[in-house]
Amino acid sequence: MASPSSDIVSALTALLGADSLLTEAADVAAHIEDWRERYRGPAACVVLPRSTQEVSDVVRLCHAHGVPVLPQGGNTSLCGGAVPGTDGQPPVIVALSRLRRIRSVDPANNAMVVDGGCVLANVQEAAREAGRLYPISLGAEGSCQIAGTIATNAGGTAVLRYGNTRENILGLEAVLPDGAIWDGLKALRKNNTGYDLKHLFIGSEGTLGIITGATLKLHPLPTAFCVAWVGVSSPDAALSLLGRLQSACGARLSAFELINDLQLDLVLANVPGRRNPFSASHPWHVLVELSDNSPEVELSAVLGRVLEEAMEADLIEDAVLAASEAQRAALWEIRHSVSEANKKAGVGLTTDCAVPVSAVPTFIAQATEAVRAIVPDLPVIVVAHMGDGNAHFIPFFTYPEWEAVADKEAMAHRMRHVVNEVSHALGGTFSAEHGVGRTHIAEMAHFKSPVELKLMHAVKAAFDPDNLFNPGRLLPPAA
Ligand SMILES: Cc1cc2nc3c(=O)[nH]c(=O)nc-3n(C[C@H](O)[C@H](O)[C@H](O)COP(=O)(O)OP(=O)(O)OC[C@H]3O[C@@H](n4cnc5c(N)ncnc54)[C@H](O)[C@@H]3O)c2cc1C
Repeated sequence: MASPSSDIVSALTALLGADSLLTEAADVAAHIEDWRERYRGPAACVVLPRSTQEVSDVVRLCHAHGVPVLPQGGNTSLCGGAVPGTDGQPPVIVALSRLRRIRSVDPANNAMVVDGGCVLANVQEAAREAGRLYPISLGAEGSCQIAGTIATNAGGTAVLRYGNTRENILGLEAVLPDGAIWDGLKALRKNNTGYDLKHLFIGSEGTLGIITGATLKLHPLPTAFCVAWVGVSSPDAALSLLGRLQSACGARLSAFELINDLQLDLVLANVPGRRNPFSASHPWHVLVELSDNSPEVELSAVLGRVLEEAMEADLIEDAVLAASEAQRAALWEIRHSVSEANKKAGVGLTTDCAVPVSAVPTFIAQATEAVRAIVPDLPVIVVAHMGDGNAHFIPFFTYPEWEAVADKEAMAHRMRHVVNEVSHALGGTFSAEHGVGRTHIAEMAHFKSPVELKLMHAVKAAFDPDNLFNPGRLLPPAA
């Protein structure tokens, strides 16, 4: 007897042709395991539609067969949201790698319309060619897709100035779970005509439909940058520096990133080509970026002055200013290499908390105490988009140490949970930018109020009454 998987594969092959399906283990492999190689599960097949209409045809067919659908972008999710699980029916993975058109750019309206499968870096480049900036920027920008960043409401390193993905989306096009196409590709700054549906899709993590196109908000392209790498003694000192920079630079402060010395050491040890900006060691490091449309010299003057005053006030230990574009890129490469370094070095139990910016130092201190109450002296990595109050606090095990942990799942959950409890007590969240996916699903059940969960289930049921879209992700089962 044919299995449900072979039925849907035959039907999809008849619909799109065999060259639009991946079924061989070697071809499917990259789609069924996550970037960190921690989650893996079987799929019925991977489908590669060529147009929004083909996405709709595929979804309609899956709906008719009662087969789950997993929308997948660049598969760079850090919370297990983009690969199948081992429970339930294997899904059809719909990958948008053939939907890569820049549909239009309108510099006068500061907007562009793109296919959902466009790689983020290509979108940034197309905006730049038109003299505009699409500001969302993150370590995975060379492989994550625009629809993936929308489905996770990605943040990254420029949120401080430009907001997260939600603030940079004007309109969306999506295929709904019954196959209907919703064309919401408006390019308006104002449109008060009832519930704003695009906001439901932003951060929906593939549970409400497939985002196939987007109208993106663009910004003037900065022409001048000034980047500094700063050594500080503590997160408290970094917070004071942030306040001084905001007062002196206003909106020109475009990034303020904090990492601890362990994180810097792991990057230097594990990613070839990365070099320590300092000869001496410092417990904490801040990457500061100013950007503007005025001449560069003004930016270096103001940044230099703030850093000098901070040095005199004993707020900072050392600082280097990038003197060239190559030096600026090299400093950013350190920051963008953290995930790669950590994956090579061991097992980091990444958390994704956000607290009020003023509470970041307390969060780091209390979270450190909480995890060391479980494993004394455990090393912790801290990578914080400090200007946004978003700290990736990462209890860290080398591979041999992790091998020695008897119940790995319980340890991972316990560690993350105590950190998330600290965040919650400070008025924070357990998921700031990566999404909920699979990693944080138990925390949804724990931290979200019954009122919020009930409303979310009602939204899910309105879009996807058969629970076919990315089931088991984002939402815990209804109580
Ligand atoms: C090195 C590295 C650095 C990172 N840095 C950051 C960072 O600084 N900030 C940050 O926020 N994230 C970061 N991430 C996480 C990740 O890159 C983002 O979450 C990104 O937005 C995911 O995009 P993707 O295309 O890879 O989506 P995927 O990983 O493929 O999917 C993520 C989720 O979106 C859904 N989805 C994907 N495509 C669609 C679609 N077309 N329609 C509907 N749903 C869809 C999936 O079902 C899944 O639930 C980083 C990841 C890596 C590997």
